[in-house]
Amino acid sequence: MHTISPVVAGDRPRLKITAIETFVLLAPDYDPAFTSSGQDTIVVAVHTDGGVTGIGECDVNPWMAKACITAPGTHTMGLSMTEMLIGADPFEIGTLWERIYLGTAMNGRRGVVIHALSAVEMALWDLCGKALGEPVFKLLGGTPRDRIVPYASLQPAGHSFEEYRDALVESAARAKALGFKAVKSEVTMNGPYAHGGMRESYDRHTEVVAAVRKALGPDVTLMVDVQYLWEDARSCYEVVRDWAEFDVYFLETPIWSDNVEEMAKLAAEAPMKIAAGEWLATRHEFRELMDVGKVQVAQPDVGRVGGIGEAKIVCDMAAERGLTIVPHCWKTGISISATAHLAFVTPHCAFIEYLPPQLCHERLRRELAHEEFALEGGLIPPPTKPGLGVEVDWDVVRRYRVA
Ligand SMILES: [Mg+2]
Repeated sequence: MHTISPVVAGDRPRLKITAIETFVLLAPDYDPAFTSSGQDTIVVAVHTDGGVTGIGECDVNPWMAKACITAPGTHTMGLSMTEMLIGADPFEIGTLWERIYLGTAMNGRRGVVIHALSAVEMALWDLCGKALGEPVFKLLGGTPRDRIVPYASLQPAGHSFEEYRDALVESAARAKALGFKAVKSEVTMNGPYAHGGMRESYDRHTEVVAAVRKALGPDVTLMVDVQYLWEDARSCYEVVRDWAEFDVYFLETPIWSDNVEEMAKLAAEAPMKIAAGEWLATRHEFRELMDVGKVQVAQPDVGRVGGIGEAKIVCDMAAERGLTIVPHCWKTGISISATAHLAFVTPHCAFIEYLPPQLCHERLRRELAHEEFALEGGLIPPPTKPGLGVEVDWDVVRRYRVA
């Protein structure tokens, strides 16, 4: 099985994994109607006998992720993830990934087990970088880029159409003022992912896209995420063919994730690129999305696809097919940093999703982990700190820990 391990020149420390700790965190003011996975998280800490600890995070129900990582097992194909890691060499990331993928196959191969594995794998990269004193992107091989381009995710607010539209317009103006060269606006007032259970017409969705484009002016790249709004290509196309005038760079998840044949029909017709992949686990789901779904932009999430290595494999598959990568990420500075490290060695990664703390409603994003990135003229220069370069505020962990 093809897997990815750190590229290390010369000697490396000899370490053994001694313990895995999990911290389930919940924002005390969480609101299920907010449809945001940034209101809870799991932080995974991988400890070693050398005193070096790596930190990871994933994007799935954190109580379920904790169970996947810590539960015991009684079958060769349903082993305990923690037991498979204890005593292992943390630098053997690829070997460990394969061991866990096979050893949990009866419970996993996709979905929550792979999402949970993503957090463990991310922690191993952080650990190896810290042990070597190197930023993670340098361990991924390849020629690093000088700069990567973040896009700001705009967040809506309110419960009426007017509040929703105005919050996005205001957020767009603030992102522009912060120097972002690109933004993505959620425009989801209907369908299974509707903000606050809204049920607005498609015409009003067009009105919101128009208002956000007007607030940005012509020079900022605009992406639109409609979060599974339509069931088929025809009903989507009827609406979005009129969005050509708003110069939309891509349309994210217009159609339900499993409906790849309809996605392909839409991708052939729509006046903008079609992007998808935020929920997918492993290269196998992405192969279907790329080869059957025919999307132009693949969006692996390092906290869901299986970790940084599996995301890199997906990026390589996209390169072979001439597709663009724009990773998905909706968690704290831990996952945002992991995404950025991946982007630094992915030349066809056009943008990374970057939720600016200043524009963010979620307190975990603002408070939990402080990444070292700063915008310079709307771009991010390479990180220099060891590992993922993230400082976790352990007081915040203690305050919001629920399991
Ligand atoms: Mg999305």
